[in-house]
Amino acid sequence: MAESFTTARALILENVALLPIESVTLSEGVGRVQANDICAPCDMPRWDNSAMDGFAVRAADCSSPTPLQIEGYIPAGATSEGICVRPGQAVRIMTGAPVPAGCDTIVPVEETEENPEGLRITTQVNKGDHIRVRGEDVSEGKLVIPDGSVLRPIEINMLAAFEFNTVAVFCRPKVAILSTGDELVEPGEPLGPGQIVNSNAYSLAAAVREIGGIPVMLGIARDNRESLIQKLNEGIKADLLITSAGVSMGDRDLVCDVLQEVGVKQLFWKIDMKPGRPTAFGLKAGTPVFSLPGNPVSTMITFEELVRPALLKMMGHQRVIKPYVKATLKEGINKKAGRVQFLRVQVRENAGKLTAESSGDQNTGILSTMLRANGIALLPAERNRFEAGEEVDVHLISDPI
Ligand code: AMP
Ligand code: MG
Repeated sequence: MAESFTTARALILENVALLPIESVTLSEGVGRVQANDICAPCDMPRWDNSAMDGFAVRAADCSSPTPLQIEGYIPAGATSEGICVRPGQAVRIMTGAPVPAGCDTIVPVEETEENPEGLRITTQVNKGDHIRVRGEDVSEGKLVIPDGSVLRPIEINMLAAFEFNTVAVFCRPKVAILSTGDELVEPGEPLGPGQIVNSNAYSLAAAVREIGGIPVMLGIARDNRESLIQKLNEGIKADLLITSAGVSMGDRDLVCDVLQEVGVKQLFWKIDMKPGRPTAFGLKAGTPVFSLPGNPVSTMITFEELVRPALLKMMGHQRVIKPYVKATLKEGINKKAGRVQFLRVQVRENAGKLTAESSGDQNTGILSTMLRANGIALLPAERNRFEAGEEVDVHLISDPI
């Protein structure tokens, strides 16, 4: 019995656990998921400071026709200690410098005129202008970056501004990648008659790396028990193991049998999806094991739709299933009822509306259709026909054209 796609994905997500937490430097933090709440250790800004290069003044003096007398200078990085703006005075000040005593307003330099009599203000001044007030951005104790946030450059900036030089994040999973098949040779090795290049290991490694995992290349297991046992035992030492091929109905498709032999408890063997029906999932002592089909298109689609969400969950992401976008089908599509079909599509954007069109022959052997695709449309199991003009759910794999 094959599992439905939705049940299979839910079962996978229920059975993968968060990875441990590690501390990394801020420069290594980008893209990682923060594993604790960060509260502001102090006010931000730490003190009232100038938002402009200009003059620290008293607003009440600015409407008087008498020029202000310039007394003193506070560059960025200096303190305002011992400096006071007295009535009729202005203190030259640079952006970011602390506001001195007596000052209630900053006048930007471009709104002033300096002449031998002093400083004339050429604009209407409102009390409080151009002062960044202590704590106006973030007040001490406030939750600034909650647990589960994906660290973007802006979070890194905030952490650095609060003087954190490390950050607690969920670990990156080590993902063992194992190709299986007697016909496989590594790229660059001589290719004999009937042999096939092990391309899956490289697309899987790229896909793992793209979302922040660490691929561990196990090479090729041959279609015999000894070879599979040795490689699978090595693979289940990683945080997650992905195998490709050897899961169909052929007499050399031994992966599922041997996985059981090495103690992997299978949750399911097949999924009602196309491509990707012979996809199995199991666990050995908590380590998830995905057995993906060997056909490169099926391998990539099952990774995208099933392995990727699992890895994201392990890395602490809160959103693990990509949001679906709605796109209008450009042509009618027939499919078999009873299984979800993943259609490789080209998604185009025109005036804010998305359309999806098959990117070519949908046979799973046709890799170039995947190459031309920037989306995967999910056609639900129940239906057997979709009309041109209908809206479908699409997972974008790159930007619309
Ligand atoms: P199998 O499930 O073992 O029958 O493999 C299905 C198809 O995928 C066959 O045409 C294989 O040659 C092909 N295939 C299997 N493994 C790989 C791989 N690592 N890279 C590229 N193609 C593969
Ligand atoms: Mg095979």
